[in-house]
Amino acid sequence: MAAHKLPCATPKGCFLIPNSLFYSPISNFLFSIYQVFKEAISRYLREHGYDNIRLKAVLFDMDGVLFNSMPYHADAWHTVMERHGLHLSREEAYMHEGRTGAATINIVYQRQYGKDATPEMIESIYAEKSEEFNRHPEPERMPGAWEVLQKIKAEGLTPVLVTGSGQHSLLDRLAHNFPGMFQRERMVTAFDVKYGKPNPEPYLMGLEKAGVKANEAIVVENAPIGVQAGAAAGIFTIAVNTGPLDRQVLLDAGADLLFPSMQALCDDWERLQTALDASNSLRHKD
Ligand code: CA
Repeated sequence: MAAHKLPCATPKGCFLIPNSLFYSPISNFLFSIYQVFKEAISRYLREHGYDNIRLKAVLFDMDGVLFNSMPYHADAWHTVMERHGLHLSREEAYMHEGRTGAATINIVYQRQYGKDATPEMIESIYAEKSEEFNRHPEPERMPGAWEVLQKIKAEGLTPVLVTGSGQHSLLDRLAHNFPGMFQRERMVTAFDVKYGKPNPEPYLMGLEKAGVKANEAIVVENAPIGVQAGAAAGIFTIAVNTGPLDRQVLLDAGADLLFPSMQALCDDWERLQTALDASNSLRHKD
């Protein structure tokens, strides 16, 4: 069954392909996926008033996109918050994914006590959370992430990292797990931003660091808050649903296109590129 490979275009609703198509001859299947991409791109162009997407840079979130690290993060958040009498379930941790640690701690603290957590408290809880996270085994690369990055590099596109993480262990591991992919000057981390996701700030900063405009990049995100940030920055935003969330949450957050995994994005990368190129030439003929 190929249903798990179904990419999905939005807005505000899912552009679904009938399952019957997955049993059709391969050419029909490929054509249909391609049409989904074209629809999503056309809609983005219409909504943002752009003539084309001239792809130069791909802005990647880190946790849940490049590393399969979210189960460890969710567990670490839950454990450490409980230790401090603060209630954050593992599942809710996925909904906060992408925020800075300080913002997550403050939201939970505010909810329970009706006031802001002190900077000292935030620093101490976040340090403990990082320590707890590091007790887990090293997170693996997300399947398909390395391969899609290789395709992107080979095409002369610039990969940019845009993460809310301030975890040195993971940032350091990037160079080891993704050698030669991300240059330090093309990274946006928790240390660079004032507001963080879902504010568009990190992605706007990513565009600036890459030296490209909003319609010269795409965002790859797995978290609702990250998708909101990418969309708010006016960038074509691809959601990859690598966690336990219902995909509708990601579509409602504003994803232009949704893939069920990084591997699926990797597998369909060439077709997506073709759809981008085709949409560009169509617009130029208008
Ligand atoms: Ca993420």
